[in-house]
Amino acid sequence: MTTGKNESHSHLADLKCSKCGARFNADELQTVCTKCQGVLLAQYSLEEVRTEIGREVFRDRPRNMWRYRELMPVRKTENIVTLGEGCTPILKLSRLGSELGMKRLLLKDDGMIPTGTFKARGLSAAVSKAKELGVQRIAIPTAGNAGGAVSAYGARAGMETFVFMPKDAPHANKAECLVHGAKLYLVDGLINDAGRIVAEGKKSMSWFDVSTTKEPYRVEGKKTMGLEIAEEMNWTLPDVILYPTGGGTGIIGMWKAFDELEQLGWVNEPKPRMFSVQSEGCAPLVKAYREEREVCDFWANARTEAAGLRVPKPYADYLILRILRESQGGAVSVSEKSIFEAQRRLASTEGIFAAPEGAATIQGLSELLDSGEIDKSDNVLLYNTGSGILYTDLIKADLRVLKPDVDPSTLV
Ligand SMILES: *Cc1c(COP(=O)(O)O)cnc(C)c1O
Ligand SMILES: [Zn+2]
Repeated sequence: MTTGKNESHSHLADLKCSKCGARFNADELQTVCTKCQGVLLAQYSLEEVRTEIGREVFRDRPRNMWRYRELMPVRKTENIVTLGEGCTPILKLSRLGSELGMKRLLLKDDGMIPTGTFKARGLSAAVSKAKELGVQRIAIPTAGNAGGAVSAYGARAGMETFVFMPKDAPHANKAECLVHGAKLYLVDGLINDAGRIVAEGKKSMSWFDVSTTKEPYRVEGKKTMGLEIAEEMNWTLPDVILYPTGGGTGIIGMWKAFDELEQLGWVNEPKPRMFSVQSEGCAPLVKAYREEREVCDFWANARTEAAGLRVPKPYADYLILRILRESQGGAVSVSEKSIFEAQRRLASTEGIFAAPEGAATIQGLSELLDSGEIDKSDNVLLYNTGSGILYTDLIKADLRVLKPDVDPSTLV
């Protein structure tokens, strides 16, 4: 199927089931495969892209993720709902790197993105495509950050937005939803429980469900993470990427980017080894990976303060596990305590205040270096998925208050 020319130059062709291969029309609203419930992935006419542009065109384009419009799903520019998300920096971690005995260590910092987490990428894409297909009412189950992001993009698109999150999600996420005018419901349970409410309400509430990987275009937004890494590294790739994994859109999106770049002939080196980092309090992927299973068991009593990682069974588990294996990467779980120590370590050595999820990759790296799964000479990129500012209520502080007449020479 070919799409012909369109105003945004998107070369979106159709959607393909990642399980059974069935194809679906991308100009109608789709969720999951109607035959096998598999995750649908957007397919592009890459031959057309290859003849239309070369990778050098991006140099002169605006610094946000829609610069990759040929490889994005929105056909009409007017439907793009953007807050300038994307093109976040890749920072060198010189001090922390040398502490770990590495010559070179990189971190891509999505703490610097609208709404403070990389969820902005996925929801900018999903809300834009939903708008293009006529949706006016969206609903989402979320561990927290996707709720903040969907509220912002929903507001910008003029949509009615319903958010369902665990009652103990970070306060900042609740505040975001309220300020953006979303309808926020707290659930006495986890993201899967919130997901059930959203799925059941579909008919009676006529909302469009933008749940992680049950909607095809959040992955397309996350794909720009991989496109940016390649472009920023002058069309080369790191040897290893460590990614804090919850529902897995990021890892699926990056892998899809590397695949498309390979098919386009824009990157000619091996794809990175992909590692998932999870918390010991909720590590279904690590368990399934170690046991060489193709899907995850439901993780009972999932507990972690890194809210984005609190996903007891990712819907796309089979896809994530496939990527971890195909890339010859792996999976590692780290203790809750070590996540917050790593957060302080990164902030105090490098000036980067990462979300606990992103900080978990530091501890993951340290353990994978110890076990020999990653080598000190590897070119490693850590993905920081969000800003620590959203989680300040987790930072224990016992702070001293000075009297205005204090003698500064007595301070230590
Ligand atoms: C959602 C989230 C994650 C996990 O993302 P997935 O791509 O769904 O695995 C990691 N970090 C933060 C800060 C998040 O909000
Ligand atoms: Zn299918």
